Amino acid sequence: MRAMVLEAPGRPLVERELPEPKAGPGQVLLRVRACGVCRTDLHVVDGELPDPKLPLVPGHQVVGVTREGRRLGVPWLGWACGECRYCTSGRENLCDFARFTGYTLDGGYAEWVVADLRFCLAIPRAYDDVRAAPLLCAGLIGYRALRLAGDGERVGLYGFGSSAHLVAQVARWQGRRVFAFTRPGDEGSQVFARQLGAVWAGGSDERPPEELDAAILFAPAGELVPAALRVLAKGGTVVAAGIHMSDIPGFPYELLWGERSVRSVANLTRVDGREFLELAPRVPVRADVETLPLSEADDALERLRTGRVRGSLVLVPGP
Ligand SMILES: [Zn+2]
Ligand SMILES: [Zn+2]
Repeated sequence: MRAMVLEAPGRPLVERELPEPKAGPGQVLLRVRACGVCRTDLHVVDGELPDPKLPLVPGHQVVGVTREGRRLGVPWLGWACGECRYCTSGRENLCDFARFTGYTLDGGYAEWVVADLRFCLAIPRAYDDVRAAPLLCAGLIGYRALRLAGDGERVGLYGFGSSAHLVAQVARWQGRRVFAFTRPGDEGSQVFARQLGAVWAGGSDERPPEELDAAILFAPAGELVPAALRVLAKGGTVVAAGIHMSDIPGFPYELLWGERSVRSVANLTRVDGREFLELAPRVPVRADVETLPLSEADDALERLRTGRVRGSLVLVPGP
């Protein structure tokens, strides 16, 4: 099969012919129909996450079909032990032994993928393959982050990319008001955010017209933590939704005072996956998608690195 392979962190992906993978016990073999590109893929490829499987096929927003024609989604959480203190308390996202698709397991930048059936998700009928792919991480992690942000009405989204454009739709549907923060001067993204119903959109260096109850950070820039705290009302929460972030600079305690909190969101549970995929068609959440052929995976990552993406990028293996 054709696959885009990471041979060493920091190097471009290379197109390779690999043997078709074989499904082991409890696994399914899927023909990949679409695979979303996530910022986490970029962190893996750039060597910002430790100890990836090597060589590695990245990609963890995989929509594929079994030989029997059953359509399944393969998300980031590819396996959890089921026995550790996290797994046995409903927190398999924190499992000490978890394995992750496209990081410690081969993922979907390929024509075929194998996955543990217990961790695959059913894809709602309402979505075609390409539009379903970004739901599997951008949508799902965004949904988990929104839940952990609390019930506040005024939600700030920092970094208006794949995840934020999906979460904005859920937040609006829940009756919240969305404030979108982009790179300073990125007017294209600000227009996009307003089209999706943001009541305000501006640069991450700007003050919104009112205080916020929560802020979710999708951009991997540590300096956004104190920036977000500065615009938060008392009792508000800053949620860091990315797997990697540059160091957070020091800030006065006064910014945290007033029962403000800062927390991260790590991975996902299967319960999150089922909940979100049940909710998505009811909103309905619509991904703004651009497709690229599998062989252009590196270009897709480069566009993500430089912020030249509107909505979500999805790779398709082709005929
Ligand atoms: Zn575990
Ligand atoms: Zn992801």
